[in-house]
Amino acid sequence: MRALDALVVGAGFSGLYMLVKLRQGGFSCAAVEAGSGVGGTWYWNRYPGARCDIPSMEYSYSFDPALEQEWEWTERYAAQPEILRYIEHVAERYDLARDIAFNTRVTAAEWNEERGRWRVDTDTGDKFDVQFLILATGALSEPRGIDLPGLENFAGPVLYTAKWDDGVDLAGKAVCHFGTGSSGIQAVATMADYVGHLTVFQRTPSYAVPANNRPLLPGEQDSAKATYQQMRAVARQSPLGFAAPPRPGKAREFAEGDRVQRLEEAWNAGTTGLLNAFEDLLFDEVSNEQAAAFARAKIAATVKDPAKARALTPHYPLGSRRLCSEIGFFETFNRPHVDLVDVRQDPVVAVEADAVITASGARHRADAITVATGFDACTGAIKAIAITGRGGQRIAEEWADGPRAYLGLAVAGFPNLFAITGPGSPSVLSNVIISIEQHVEWVARCLADMRASGKAVIEADADAEQDWMRHVDEVAQTTLFPRADSWYMGRTRDGGQVFMPYVGGVGSYRAKCDAVREAGYEGFRLS
Ligand code: FAD
Repeated sequence: MRALDALVVGAGFSGLYMLVKLRQGGFSCAAVEAGSGVGGTWYWNRYPGARCDIPSMEYSYSFDPALEQEWEWTERYAAQPEILRYIEHVAERYDLARDIAFNTRVTAAEWNEERGRWRVDTDTGDKFDVQFLILATGALSEPRGIDLPGLENFAGPVLYTAKWDDGVDLAGKAVCHFGTGSSGIQAVATMADYVGHLTVFQRTPSYAVPANNRPLLPGEQDSAKATYQQMRAVARQSPLGFAAPPRPGKAREFAEGDRVQRLEEAWNAGTTGLLNAFEDLLFDEVSNEQAAAFARAKIAATVKDPAKARALTPHYPLGSRRLCSEIGFFETFNRPHVDLVDVRQDPVVAVEADAVITASGARHRADAITVATGFDACTGAIKAIAITGRGGQRIAEEWADGPRAYLGLAVAGFPNLFAITGPGSPSVLSNVIISIEQHVEWVARCLADMRASGKAVIEADADAEQDWMRHVDEVAQTTLFPRADSWYMGRTRDGGQVFMPYVGGVGSYRAKCDAVREAGYEGFRLS
């Protein structure tokens, strides 16, 4: 049993920065990572076309001014290999690997009331005895499987985008692909270039904006770097963690020509621009519908077969499910070797050794099946660990009706446990790196404050937690997010839904966390 001040679970962007801060704070610490290397999302998701949908210059750490000046991004939107190289570079720069146990999964953690410490078990048999347990397990790290009748009969490989095996060669093969969310859209457009035949099975269509990706020009990168710290400062106070705020003005109040012109500019600027075209797109139904109609018209203008175009067209508010970034996705459906199956109309009834059969009787030949059906978002990786808090309560059971957490950081009944980008924080509805840095820095300060004041145990107060979750819900209800059935929603036992991320703004959330600390950790009990 290894005794430490703090154990970090996960070695993605969150876990690595947490290790840096714990070391800097003089705490004995280590991290445990299920993968064989650092990188988290960017270690696992090696599927063809995997790419960030936030500009490279913004999707990176800001805590090290020398690092952000030295690192050279090559493209406007970095692809997975480049982001992984960046994270590996950071791990080397800070010599982090020596404190990370790779190929090791935390399976259980139990709070010992008398000792005020966590006992942590792993699948390798290594055990830890720690004062603080920090879950940097990722909001999108627990992939959802796929339930196809007869899948066990399939003779070829089944590849998940979230655990891609790049040793399997799909060139010239017949591929049946499932899922058209962010990852699916990227994988489909890329695989179409080299597979022999591609059948795309879609349940819910996505809105997707062309990434307008291109190489970053040297002068462009230099001028952004000249004001990097100011740009980051603006992002930290912004609604979604970006340097460019939404443009002022309500879409519905613009004359049609002016509105369309602004939407066109935003469309051409690339993915994140579209929701920033007007200030009210995520709040006002009429304005949103005007922008959504604009995005739908783009699909109709691109996809030549009207039946395919209709199937690919979403009818929920723009942005209420994740707005995707695409490079040639819709054009893919004009290619003769690419088919589309709308499984709401024609569901899969059987999988055979070399084919997928749908209710209409159609037989879709398959040498391989690829799957991009998303994640058990926000809570899956935490619930997968058997975490036992005060009085034997289990997180997975406590969250059966949707997650509860104070500020998305801490859970009542589970002392000295912190979640980085947990449910009830901006997490997946922000530039996640900005949110990660804010959480990590808050936790590091909290631990230092506790040490300075001689406190050993911190726990969220149940009332403060309840008030916070009520606030998270109230804010969500002022937006259009709850209008769609999306992975932003957590499920309750009776089939109800709970909106998980905090959409009150990255800047106001940061101010709230700072105020809590300045008020002596208001809403927490310290002893
Ligand atoms: P992760 O990167 O998910 O790392 C968590 C790590 O914890 C994983 O390596 C996992 O193996 C490990 N782990 C989990 N449970 C255990 C356990 N029990 N024991 C041991 N190890 C464990 N965000 C954006 O802001 N912009 C984007 O464009 C964007 N694109 C994305 C594209 C994809 C395909 C995906 C999946 C996510 C994307 N995200 C994006 C979100 C992305 O997850 C975050 O930006 C960020 O990488 C999260 O870092 P993290 O360290 O918090 O979590």
